[in-house]
Amino acid sequence: MIPSHASVSAFSLQALRAARPVLWMRPDNAATGAGVAFTLADVQAAHDRFARFAPLLAQLFPELEAAAGVIESPLREAAAMQQALGLPAASGRLWIKADHALPVAGSIKARGGIHEVLEFTEKLALAHGLVAPGDDYRKLGTPAARACFAQYQVAVGSTGNLGLSIGVIASALGFRAAVHMSADAKEWKKARLRARGVEVVEHPGDYEKAVAAGRRQVQADAHGYFVDDERSASLFLGYAAAALRLRAQIAQAGIVVDAEHPLFVYLPCGVGGAPGGIAFGLSLLYGAHAHCFFAEPVQSPCFLLRMMAGHGQLPGVPVPPSVYDIGLTNQTEADGLAVPRASDLAYAAVGQSLAGVYTVADDTLYGDLARLHDSEGLRIEPSAAAGFSGPRQLLGSQAGQQWLRRRGLLPHLARATHLAWTTGGLYVPAEEYDRFLSRGQRLAAAPQAPTDAPSLHHSRRA
Ligand SMILES: *Cc1c(COP(=O)(O)O)cnc(C)c1O
Repeated sequence: MIPSHASVSAFSLQALRAARPVLWMRPDNAATGAGVAFTLADVQAAHDRFARFAPLLAQLFPELEAAAGVIESPLREAAAMQQALGLPAASGRLWIKADHALPVAGSIKARGGIHEVLEFTEKLALAHGLVAPGDDYRKLGTPAARACFAQYQVAVGSTGNLGLSIGVIASALGFRAAVHMSADAKEWKKARLRARGVEVVEHPGDYEKAVAAGRRQVQADAHGYFVDDERSASLFLGYAAAALRLRAQIAQAGIVVDAEHPLFVYLPCGVGGAPGGIAFGLSLLYGAHAHCFFAEPVQSPCFLLRMMAGHGQLPGVPVPPSVYDIGLTNQTEADGLAVPRASDLAYAAVGQSLAGVYTVADDTLYGDLARLHDSEGLRIEPSAAAGFSGPRQLLGSQAGQQWLRRRGLLPHLARATHLAWTTGGLYVPAEEYDRFLSRGQRLAAAPQAPTDAPSLHHSRRA
């Protein structure tokens, strides 16, 4: 049986409105309002920018010394978690892309957030003659360079993790940094930022309100730079660069990705920038052989709504839709994913290529957080557990089975790779993590709720 508290059902709008877990597969017909925005050269440029800054980053962050300034996470097989999830070997192998352990930011936001601050830094440095193209960027750690950066303010609006990433890198480079946080941001994240000299501005409303307030404040500052989570190309390309690194890791691990060895990637989604950048990069590299799924909380399925609207499946709801428009609350313990409306930029980039979107109940996130701890010894935050519902939803639901059959993938499942992207957790304080864990262990031990889905074992067809 599938160890799930969720009733894993085929897609229905009624279930979505009732905040029950659903799996939605993208129809084959073209969506409206989508269109690709970037090229492989753009993704490569972001990758190369990280490389230029690596020597400086190694100097600024002792935790990056051993990796020579490269901010990266391991790709690891997760056989024990696969067993804990009840995912049979005949359905493929489970792997984890361990971004929960990304140094400096402690979450996937290290990729996009740090890239954008580096791009801004590079532009300033070239404009002020602090470096010339081809120079050693360690020059940007000198007092003269830092004095220049101190004239500028870098600001961002955030539920927490993006703020952590931007605040930490901006203050390390010598910028003034301000993070506008929503009411759902965790106290420890605010404390961590303040300890680094970052100004934390608290807003009573949700994520969208914090972003709007930050944007307004920075517009009034001639030396202000605002990192716009909802519209930034630089953030998006920083995330997309992960695909190039992952491709090398996949090759090194001996994993084959082709028509007979499908790659399924399960990405926790907030505004859509991080999973969108990665899915975009993977589709450039692997084309139709990479099948990317976004995972959202049952109360915050903003990207799912955007996809449905693009296919004309949300009549009567304004476009772009928000989760409030269908009566949901945007209340979730998955604070990294508590976003009411999707990024247009991310939708434009991946709306036509994404395989599907599914939703996850908070209890399921906690259960999987505990399963991952008990099976693999990994410590993640609740948002980062959303990927683990992917195989359960894809293999255990009617919608998933029908899609696999339609795409001719059933005969290849035994050779498939299921990649759950764990997106945050490294810096969660021990007491906070212990609360997550005991809640998850209680849930994992509780009697299983009945499920209306077929058992995973029925999909043993390969
Ligand atoms: C931000 C975040 C995501 C999703 O990124 P978006 O760009 O908002 O879609 C996923 N997991 C964690 C832990 C995050 O902090």
